[in-house]
Amino acid sequence: MSTAAPLDLDYVSRRALLGAEVVRRGLDAALVTSAVNVTYLTGLVSSNAACLVRPDGGLTLATDARYAQMAHAWCPEAEVFTERHVAAALLGRAVQPGERVGVEREHLTWARGLALAQQAEGVLELVDLTGAVESLRAVKEVAEVALLAQAGEISVRALAVLLDGPVQGRTERALARDLEAQMLLLGADGLAFDTIVASGPNGAVPHHAPGDRRVQRGDLLTIDFGAKVAGYHADCTRTVAVGMLGSDWQEPIYHLVAAAQQAGIDALAPGMSTEAVDAAARTLIDDAGYGESFVHGLGHGVGLEIHEPPWLSAADPPAGTLGLRTTITVEPGIYLPGEGGVRIEDTMDVGPAGVRVLTDMTKELLIVDG
Ligand code: ZN
Ligand code: ZN
Repeated sequence: MSTAAPLDLDYVSRRALLGAEVVRRGLDAALVTSAVNVTYLTGLVSSNAACLVRPDGGLTLATDARYAQMAHAWCPEAEVFTERHVAAALLGRAVQPGERVGVEREHLTWARGLALAQQAEGVLELVDLTGAVESLRAVKEVAEVALLAQAGEISVRALAVLLDGPVQGRTERALARDLEAQMLLLGADGLAFDTIVASGPNGAVPHHAPGDRRVQRGDLLTIDFGAKVAGYHADCTRTVAVGMLGSDWQEPIYHLVAAAQQAGIDALAPGMSTEAVDAAARTLIDDAGYGESFVHGLGHGVGLEIHEPPWLSAADPPAGTLGLRTTITVEPGIYLPGEGGVRIEDTMDVGPAGVRVLTDMTKELLIVDG
């Protein structure tokens, strides 16, 4: 993330909403220790920061000397502690004896959690608040969706350049590096995640790491990739045929996955159950006899993290509903060990005015480098 964030990201409102949640749960403050949640609430990107948010949204921020200047610049209204042990400093200096403080238990190491519990013993009450900030993050601001759209557009433009070729005879690794370089050239701040390029039989491995296999005529080629802009991630997958179709299964499986993806997209709407969206796509694949070959959930929220709530899955409790403005991937896949696979994925904006694709690129079965 660059040091200059878009000014219309509304950190003050985010902290006010967390403050309201603090009140709702009968707490005196929230101690936020997850790095990405601290970024969400303050704009500060730091590998060592924590913040304390009060019911009125009031902020105390702790970070070490490497980030102190940025913390003051980002949050002029906040009290800033320059400390190495950030969570301990906030509990020790910003909280009064007898107060009830929410902590993100799931984001603390066992050692840190024990240390905080020891510090609080007999003085403060610590209550689990895991997921509170994630719930806020699951509902996007308009400015966040704009950044996600920018990341999506850079991603698909870069893929179009790559697919112009040449593709045949090149290694998966070389194709991945070219695609990544193209995204950076087109203005990405970074990569959303390590690019997946899976050719031929490697396509049967959903998260194949690109290797030295050279792409051959008749392969299906699955490319899962994304650009990052101002901390926001795009996530897109396309599967293309190289030169020609190489096996009888390729075309029908492709069309089945494409139809399942469309069914999932058609089911998206604010307030919709996440499990029902997953089922809308999965039923098609199940009914065609490939249910066992669709080995993952239908999709995931995407934002400041590449994978974040909500989850489109029946297997991952708790099932929930889509918020009023959610960005989420829809990515069914069929994987045939020894043969190959197909996955098609888009990042979708599910907003009050409708559903929009943020990684807009054809889903016809492309035969590239013919
Ligand atoms: Zn992906
Ligand atoms: Zn994904």
